[in-house]
Parts: sequence; structure tokens; C-alpha cells
Amino acid sequence: MSGERYLGPQILLAKKKEYLIPCVYHFYQDPPQIVRAQGQYLYDHTGKKYLDLYAGVSVVSAGHCHPVITKMAIEQWLDLQHTTTIYLTQPMLELAEKLAGLTPGNLKQSFFCNSGSEANETAILLAKLATKRKKILSLNNSLHGRTYLTMGLTGLPFWRTDPEPFPEVYFAPSPYCFRCEYGFVNETKCGFACVKKVEKIIQENPPGEIAAFIAEPIQGNGGIIVPPQEYFPRVKEILDKYGILLIVDEVQTGFNRTGKTFAIEHWGVEPDIMTMAKALANGLPIGAVITTPDIAQHYTRPGASTFGGNPVIASAALATLDVHQKEDLARKARENGAYFKARLLELQEKYRVIGEVRGEGLMLGVELVRDYKEPASSMLDQILEYFKNHGILAGKTGPGRNVLTFQPPLIITQEDIDYTIICLEQVLANISLNYIFP
Ligand code: PMP
Repeated sequence: MSGERYLGPQILLAKKKEYLIPCVYHFYQDPPQIVRAQGQYLYDHTGKKYLDLYAGVSVVSAGHCHPVITKMAIEQWLDLQHTTTIYLTQPMLELAEKLAGLTPGNLKQSFFCNSGSEANETAILLAKLATKRKKILSLNNSLHGRTYLTMGLTGLPFWRTDPEPFPEVYFAPSPYCFRCEYGFVNETKCGFACVKKVEKIIQENPPGEIAAFIAEPIQGNGGIIVPPQEYFPRVKEILDKYGILLIVDEVQTGFNRTGKTFAIEHWGVEPDIMTMAKALANGLPIGAVITTPDIAQHYTRPGASTFGGNPVIASAALATLDVHQKEDLARKARENGAYFKARLLELQEKYRVIGEVRGEGLMLGVELVRDYKEPASSMLDQILEYFKNHGILAGKTGPGRNVLTFQPPLIITQEDIDYTIICLEQVLANISLNYIFP
């Protein structure tokens, strides 16, 4: 689109107010109009360049408008754009085969849809069909989608608009050691109270009622919450004891974000069902659920998704997975993630407003606090504004909306990270001047 056609943020904001349902919200007091992107950079309508440290919430992991992915999608588009799953097409099946090879354990059979929410809906359906049970266990601080059911599975109050909780969902504590729900301050002394609670909830229900436990391996919107090493292995043991399926929501963590293909691999646990979306097609809408043949065989009634497995999107996904492998994005996430985290930890030594730095690979969170760990959400807003003015866009997560979140394209460089650290230090120095700790 040429420069003179850009309406500019003021006009767009007025149109938004008039024509969009108010739930659609933006970061920033004066949001820029983003018009173009390349690699790890975004550009606004004035030509100003921004380092993108959020990647459209963990989506454009291979970088914006990657030429190989774009070319594959366009070539497919010129040949065949759409049929629905009721006709036989090749890209969807190649993608299903590829995912069977990439995912852990015996996950093999896929269903394609359009979003993470839909993938999670399908996962719950599969679990209910396979177990003939109806209740679901989820976690506090989780986010599983925006549809009615997946909002009901979501433990973060900020993202649960419907005031009536979904009746058959139970919530266990989040493995959020920095803010342990049981008040423990030492991870090793808690005796895994949060894991024990999972078993307690199961036992409080009549036997054979809970179909599945759904969890993000690292809670994304919850504030980049990385569970302790033993959490998932211990939970899986309990689930197996009661015949409950483990659904792992890799919508945000999947495809090398954390330095491994899937984040659950950090804990060596094999899920029964896994959901994916976001980074799989690097920015084109896609959702997928994959499960074992044993579980899949229970879903035999016709299930069609109009756009699921669309040839253009499936081709983009195949190209994305190819690019991830050829450009070794898992290694980049590990190496640059370790460098980024180390530099953030150096800042934590100097600035007491940084309560905790956590994350794996290039999924990093910096929790900002005042006294007694009170969430410093207005500080985070100041940082995000400062970043934006200095050409950096980053994220905001956590139940207290006080976790500065970095989930950049996996291709960012050490120079990008150094620049971010310089800006963060500048703004932290300013903020800390105005805030005196006791
Ligand atoms: N699961 C997780 C972990 C997510 O982060 C999100 C979206 N932020 C979803 C599911 C829902 O995905 P979508 O927006 O594609 O429906």
C-alpha cells in the first residue's frame, strides 16, 4: 500500500471506536499504525522501524514475510486455494505426516482447523470421546482460547469475559513458584503441594469422571511460568494412575520457541493429545491437534472444518517447518535465549524492581514488582511506552499484568538484544530514581 493511502493512527482509532466491538484493545496510549514488516522488524506509516520482540504473540518465529514461506504459499495459491477437507489434497497430508514425525511419543494422527482455540476445543472433544468421561482439569493462570469452552478452560481472570464458569472444569494451582499459592518461598521445601492438589481434586470427584488434564508446558499469558523440573513427570504419573489423559497446549510454546521443537520435551513427558497453532504457519491462520491412533479411533463421526488443512496454509506450514530446520532456529532460540536471559539477570542484580527473570529459549519474562512482590503493572506500562518510543515492541503478561514479555522472531541477533538491554537499563534507571525501596 502506498504511503499516501495510510489513514494514520488517529483516523484508525476513530474507526475502531465506531466499528469494532470494544473488546478489541491495543497496547500503548498512541499506538502506531503498522504497515510493513521484514525479518524481526516492523515499520509504521511514517517509516519508523521497530524491533519486534513479541512476534505477534509467538507467531512469526521464522521472521516476518519470510521469502521462502511467502513464495511457497503464493505458488500454491496460484494453483489451488481452497477445497475443504471433503476433497483430497496433498499439502494437508504431507503436513500431517511431517507433524507425526516431529511430535513426541506415539502422537500420529492430526486434525486441522483455524486457530489455537479450535484446536483445544477438538482436543477436549477427543478426550471426552476416548474416555467417555466429561470433566476437565485445568490450571490457574492458564489461557486456552477465546471460544466459549476454551474461555471456560482458561484460568486467567483477565481473559475470562464470561462471568459464569464452565460447569465441568476444575482448576488446580499454577506451578508458579515465585507466587506459590501455598505461600512456600523455597521450591524444594514445598513437597510439591501443587501436584498433590491435582490428585486431591481427582479424588474429590466420583471415580471415572475426569477425562483430561490440559496445560501449557510453560504458561504464556500467565506470565512465562516455567514449572519446576519434576512437575510434569509427577503430574503424568498421577494422571496415568486414574486413566486421565494429558492434553498439552503447545499453541504458544511449539516450534522451537523454547529451544526444543515442543516445550514439553524439556520434561521428557509424552502427552496423549497435543494442540498447536500460532507459529506453525508463521502468520497464516492454522490450528492442529494431534493424538495417538488409539485415541483418534474414537472420533469417527464426520468432522469437517471449512478452512482446516487449506492447501495454501498447509503449504505455508510445510515451508515454515522447512525453514525452521534449514535455519536451525532451535539452536538460535537456545543460544540467543541464553544470552538474552543472562543479560536480563545482570539487570536484576542492579534493579530491585525486577522480581524474577524466567523462561526457556526465546520465551522470556521479567516480573516487575514493588515491595512485597506487589505487581508493578504501571511500571511495565512506562517501560513499554519507552520501548515503543525507542523503536522496540515487547509484550505484557501475567495475572498482575506486570510481566515484561519477550517472544521475538527466533532470528533476532545479539545486537538486537544488546540494544534492548541498553533501553531497558535506561528506563529502569529512571523508574528506580522515582521509587525508593525501604
Ligand atoms: N492456547 C494458548 C496457550 C494461547 O496462548 C492462545 C492464544 N494466545 C490460545 C490457546 C488461543 O489461540 P487462538 O488465539 O489462535 O485461538
